[in-house]
Order: sequence, then structure tokens, then C-alpha cells
Amino acid sequence: ATPTALLVGTGRGAQMGILIKGPEVLESTRRIDTVVLDKTGTVTAGTMSLTAVHLAEGESREEVLRLAGALEHASEHPIARAIAREARSDATVESFANVEGLGVQGVVDGHAVLVGRPRLLAEWSQHLPADLERELADEQAEGRTAVAVGWDGRARAVLVVADVVKPTSKEAIEQLKALGLTPVLLTGDNEAVARSVAAEVGIDQVIAEVLPADKVDVVKRLQSEGKVVAMVGDGVNDAAALAQADLGLAMGTGTDAAIEASDLTLVRGDLKVAPDAIRLARRTLKVIK
Ligand code: ADP
Ligand code: MG
Repeated sequence: ATPTALLVGTGRGAQMGILIKGPEVLESTRRIDTVVLDKTGTVTAGTMSLTAVHLAEGESREEVLRLAGALEHASEHPIARAIAREARSDATVESFANVEGLGVQGVVDGHAVLVGRPRLLAEWSQHLPADLERELADEQAEGRTAVAVGWDGRARAVLVVADVVKPTSKEAIEQLKALGLTPVLLTGDNEAVARSVAAEVGIDQVIAEVLPADKVDVVKRLQSEGKVVAMVGDGVNDAAALAQADLGLAMGTGTDAAIEASDLTLVRGDLKVAPDAIRLARRTLKVIK
């Protein structure tokens, strides 16, 4: 491989909205057979909005949104932004902690509040009543993300937020498949939501309910099975997995940590830039051979 030809490839990449860290990166795309895609913010737009509030017996919608909304004001997660947008924030947040991949917890107006996966609430012995459990399962089966809200020892509500698949994601997946690559959807979200998004864009393989710290292990496992893996991600959550992958592609809309950890930065926010990048790399290498 002559450095000049590789540099031409990287220059062409920049024109297409693909920033390549170094020319040597193009070499590593040759043997890629698997493309792992983060769900939220990569395949989906990542902008969510609150679509429903399901209350436990005797709870008020206003109080649920007031306490959960105040707490979520402190979080940058897309789910948090959807919830915080709906809230009157006259409540005082006395403490706040992000529980990675599970949700948020803190003290709001003297109440110990939790918002997140039912698993987070269960850790504090807050279990959803049967009717809320059912609502949550139904919403998830429809492909929406549902989180639980509890405070002072009791689960109080289920909040539902919906994200939409980016308009170009389906075509991008088709192009990846046409290039002979196997797409895999990787997410911390639950299995039903993940399956529904995957079906919408034509992905057969889904790895769901993966904690952020474990995303890197998923990439390692695929590699140990002999796969050569490209990872496309956007979140701060994805940085380690992007770095572990044989090729890391960060969506330009993503966080600095993700961009830092990746080999290619996709300046355009749409997923079609991923097959573009792989095609470009292959073409450049063919010219060199
Ligand atoms: P993804 O892999 O889809 O980007 P994350 O790992 O960021 O998902 O989050 C996994 C799950 O944890 C979310 O689907 C949600 O149920 C819960 N969660 C994370 N952060 C929050 C938050 N700030 N508020 C409520 N729920 C949250
Ligand atoms: Mg994400």
C-alpha cells in the first residue's frame, strides 16, 4: 500500500463527510464481516418524546412528572430530556446520581426518587404493581421505551418515551448487507424494543439489555468467534466498544468521547455514511493493489 494512494482515500473521505484518523485505518476495513450498531442515536434519531404516563393506584400525574422531571433535569440521556421537557421544575434536587445503563436516582424535595429500568427500582425493593407491569410490557412490545418511577419505597408510575428510526437507516442497513456484511443491533434497551427497531430496519441479530460497560465484551466475544467487527456508535457509552472494534465509526452527532475512541468519524448524522465509508475504503485499497 502506497501512502499516497491511502492519503487520496482519506481526502476523498473528508469530502464525503468521513473524517479518517490516519491512512492506515483504511487497511483494517478490508476483512470486516460484521457491523455492530448502537441503537439510540445511531439507528434511531435519539430524540425522544413523552407519549404516555401510567399511574399506580392513587398516584397523581402532576406529582410524578414534577419529581421525575426535576431529577431528569440533571441527566443528559435522551430519555431524561424527554421527561424533563414535560416537567414544572419548581422542585429542589438535593442530590443526584446517574446509575449507568439503569437510570437516575436522587433526593428531590426530601423524597428519595428513582427513574429508570424496573431493575433499578427492584434493587431498592420497589416492584411495579401487576397492572403497571402489564402496561410496561405492552408499550415495549410496541417498540416504545418505558421507564419506571418510584420514591420513598414505592413504585409509582411508568413513563413512556418514543424514539423514531432515522429516515435513512433502513437503506443504510440494506447497503451494508449488499456489501456482504452482517448487521447486529446492540443496545442497553430491552429486548422487545430492540426487536421492534431491528425489524423496522431489517436487522436479524439483536443483542439487548447490555450494560454500557459490557458493550466492549460483546465486541470481544464476536471477535473471539472469528468475526472482524466494525462498530458504529454515538454515545459516551460506546467509547470502549468503538476502541475495541477492528474499525470504530463514530456518528458525528455523537459525543467527543465516542469520536476520540473511533477510527472514523462520520460527520453526517445519517447511517448511510457507514456503508459509504466501507465502500470508500475498499475502493481505495483496490486502487493500491
Ligand atoms: P442505549 O444502549 O439504548 O443507548 P443506555 O445504556 O443509555 O441505552 O440505557 C439503557 C436503559 O437504561 C434505557 O433504555 C433506560 O431504560 C435506562 N436509563 C438510562 N438512563 C436513564 C435516565 N436518565 N432516565 C431513565 N432511564 C434511564
Ligand atoms: Mg446510546
